[in-house]
Amino acid sequence: MKPVTLSQAELSPEWRTLLDAAMAARRRAYAPYSCFPVGAAVRAVSGAIYTGCNIENASSGLTVCAERVAIWKAVAAGETAFEALAVITESGATPCGACRQVLIEFAAELPILVADTAAHAWLTDLQTLLPDAFPRLLYGTDDEWRAADRSRSQT
Ligand SMILES: [Zn+2]
Repeated sequence: MKPVTLSQAELSPEWRTLLDAAMAARRRAYAPYSCFPVGAAVRAVSGAIYTGCNIENASSGLTVCAERVAIWKAVAAGETAFEALAVITESGATPCGACRQVLIEFAAELPILVADTAAHAWLTDLQTLLPDAFPRLLYGTDDEWRAADRSRSQT
């Protein structure tokens, strides 16, 4: 997908709702070290929205990005299929490499709205941000994965 730059005023109601959720999450960021609060919101195929903010730690390696917090909250709630992600930072930063790999585990073609605090937005997708990703299916076919997932959910 060729990234599309637009004004946040041009967003569809669905993207506006997701971005508003990401903006609210950003206000809850725990970022005393970087002073770079990030908010993310992912919409599952079920329609539910899960939010995340970055959560930093004095031991830097323990810091977690907003996108991963949102995905982990969603997965912990039983969601594994996603249809959209919005992320907002002051500068309009895209998800980091680690988050891209985590996201692609669940939604290879995830549409992603990247926004800044100056009302700009950039619509892209995960395939564009992470081409040739480490393959989720390295351990089996998609059907095998789904069968294993079903058997896990029955226990
Ligand atoms: Zn990240």
